[in-house]
Amino acid sequence: MHGAYETTNRYLKEAFDLLGLSPAEGNLLWTPARELRVELTIEMDDGSIGNFIGYRVQHDDSRGPFKGGLRYHPEVDIDEVRSLASLMTWKTAVVNVPFGGAKGGIQVDPSKLSQRELERLTRRLTQRLSIAIGPDLDIPAPDMNTNAQMMSWIFDEYSRQHGFSPAVVTGKPVDLHGSFGRDAATGRGCLFAIREVLRSVGQTLGGKRFAIQGFGNVGGWLARLLAEQGAKIVAISDVRGGIRSEGGLDVTRVREHVGKTGSVVGTPGSQPIDNDQLLEVDCDVLVPAALGHVLTEQNAPRVRAAYVLEAANGPTTYEADMILRERKITCIPDIYANAGGVAVSYMEWTQNTQKTRWTEEQVNGALEHLMVDAYHAISALQGKHGCSMRAAAFALGVSRVKTATDLRGLG
Ligand code: NAD
Repeated sequence: MHGAYETTNRYLKEAFDLLGLSPAEGNLLWTPARELRVELTIEMDDGSIGNFIGYRVQHDDSRGPFKGGLRYHPEVDIDEVRSLASLMTWKTAVVNVPFGGAKGGIQVDPSKLSQRELERLTRRLTQRLSIAIGPDLDIPAPDMNTNAQMMSWIFDEYSRQHGFSPAVVTGKPVDLHGSFGRDAATGRGCLFAIREVLRSVGQTLGGKRFAIQGFGNVGGWLARLLAEQGAKIVAISDVRGGIRSEGGLDVTRVREHVGKTGSVVGTPGSQPIDNDQLLEVDCDVLVPAALGHVLTEQNAPRVRAAYVLEAANGPTTYEADMILRERKITCIPDIYANAGGVAVSYMEWTQNTQKTRWTEEQVNGALEHLMVDAYHAISALQGKHGCSMRAAAFALGVSRVKTATDLRGLG
């Protein structure tokens, strides 16, 4: 299996070939603009010293300020952050919001830290990155294991040094300069993505059977919104395990159970299933909405869905992607499927910089427009090149970034 960055670059190479780019042009587009590695030393609650390593990779800013989430996870490393930063560049271009791409993270298991320790760690990261982030420079956001509270600490810490700066970070709480609709945005964007793909073949969400790996921000919202549209959720999992029900799970009941126990496991009326089995469950749409690289050459031959909706970033290895293509399983790629989060982050940033507030209806309506427009642009390229949806999405993102790079010139 290849590393995350190499996987992204193999997808990119395909787009470069479709667009007829030279190796030098390709090199310019895939090399990150700047990489930061920071040491984060904090006092732990017991008085000992905690040492952590953080990263921020700023991939490209030809279309606007760098933009991308912060992830707290024990497996965060420079290879993964590079890959995720690059994906952000193509993602912001695919949904046509005026940002570039970046990503960051801390190698830490946040479940082992207290709330006070997490606050100290987040503030230290903000101090260390403060030379490189800013409302017109680089705007972080939540990602795996980071949330609105942490974004509030970043806003506060940065503002202490630079004055009131809500636009330095997105994904803030609605009560602290956040946007209505941001919390649900990535899940809602996924909903629009699969709805458009089904619509193109004359189908609807009603009665379609979904299996979702991950019940956090993205998976949790998507499950809820799908159920509202009459889709059936036949399996759901989280880090502790999974549940299934052929007749469809009651998502409200699952959420209540998670509220009480912290996990979907053991929800009344469900049967247990593990995370590996979930990926091979009989369904119409398989949704990886947790970690990267979960669909591999080992399990791809056993996927029993007609569609893979990539809610997570980088869930499919290159080898698995080739197998899914051969098996005519449509993969709705991450750089389109989960772009709803950054699309609404753009709306939050716009509200902050213009000192105004949009209603939830305005936000959701604008998100729907962006996702539907992007679908049509991808679909047109797919028709033109006769390629996969992933190759078309990459080609769309790359062509938009290349146009901006060319117009700006090399200086
Ligand atoms: P989250 O932390 O809110 O939730 C993650 C979920 O995955 C949790 O239910 C967790 O229990 C589960 N999980 C963790 N490890 C697992 C494992 N080994 N096996 C199965 N499940 C596991 O994170 P999120 O914000 O929902 O992000 C999920 C994915 O979506 C990530 O790949 C992230 O990069 C991507 N994404 C998130 C956003 C966003 O706006 N939050 C936007 C774009 C992409």
